[in-house]
Amino acid sequence: MLSALASAQTTNKTVTAQRGDGIISLLRRNGLDPGKYYKDFVKLNKKNISKKNGLYIGRKYILPVSEEKEETKTVSQPDSVNQVPEATADTTVIAKKEAVEIAPPKEEPPKPRVFKQPLFGKKLENVTIESDELKGAIYYLISGHGGPDPGALIKQGRKLVSEDEYAYDVNLRLARKLIAKGAKVYIIIQDPNDGIRDQRLLEVDYDEVNYPKKKIPRSQRLRLKQRTESVNALFLQNNNGKGYQRLIVTHIDSRSVGEVIDVFFYHHERSKKGKRLAESIQATFKQKYARYQPNRKYSGTVTSRSGLYVVRNTMPAMVYIELGNLKNTKDQKRILDYNNREALAKWISEGLIADFKKE
Ligand SMILES: [Zn+2]
Repeated sequence: MLSALASAQTTNKTVTAQRGDGIISLLRRNGLDPGKYYKDFVKLNKKNISKKNGLYIGRKYILPVSEEKEETKTVSQPDSVNQVPEATADTTVIAKKEAVEIAPPKEEPPKPRVFKQPLFGKKLENVTIESDELKGAIYYLISGHGGPDPGALIKQGRKLVSEDEYAYDVNLRLARKLIAKGAKVYIIIQDPNDGIRDQRLLEVDYDEVNYPKKKIPRSQRLRLKQRTESVNALFLQNNNGKGYQRLIVTHIDSRSVGEVIDVFFYHHERSKKGKRLAESIQATFKQKYARYQPNRKYSGTVTSRSGLYVVRNTMPAMVYIELGNLKNTKDQKRILDYNNREALAKWISEGLIADFKKE
């Protein structure tokens, strides 16, 4: 009798975890105070415990050796609740759930949050949300022209390429980056069968639609009115026009004819938020130019240009960006290379993040 008791106290008992078991319940059932033995249990069973301290059904677990005499074990149980440290009490709730869900003993990594946007094309439609940096921010993206209006046209060899396709491609890349940071993004001008494209020569087509799926009119005035009304309606729907909501319009037909063409930013003359938005993006561009093209002085400017219909009539604070001029040979080189379209989108997104952080 004596020897039997001695061995029970010095050797570790093993038990099998059952459905619904967590570390705390398992310890309690075996007369061990969780407040006292929780850490020992984790140490002893490291290999069989999930990241969130969950147990696996059907696996064997080693129990810590009790320091107490047999008869006091059960007595200590009712008090033990108060002795459980808060953190362990918390994780056990999750642990219990896991133990139930993970029937075959296999560790499941946390599921990444994925947002699906078919406009990005089959390969890129699933966007993994990397962070919440832009959580709460709402963006409306308008790429210039679209539908019956291709914008600036140039010939590449025998092929005709147009401004709207390139502005749209940059816009999609930008949208994807913003979504990945947790923003809500409305792509106002959209083409369901284009997607993000890495080709140099993007096919000219005329089937772009205006959000949600409206045909784009031929008349310039009606076209601009249509996209303006779409943005304004969404703006009012979203938090009654409150919160951080921004519109970004992109074109590639700047009128600048200097040898060095830069990216220009326009905002409404009376919008402080619009001005700050434009300046935030411009500041990012200045930094990038200094870093990647130190010999080239950046001369893009921020100016108010309330004469533009979309600038004048849209409700959210906005920036109108001219990414260059497709008719300029140097700009063509830049914009036809998808790496540069990707870089432009990245820089704009970084400027937008900087602006959101100022809010
Ligand atoms: Zn344009």
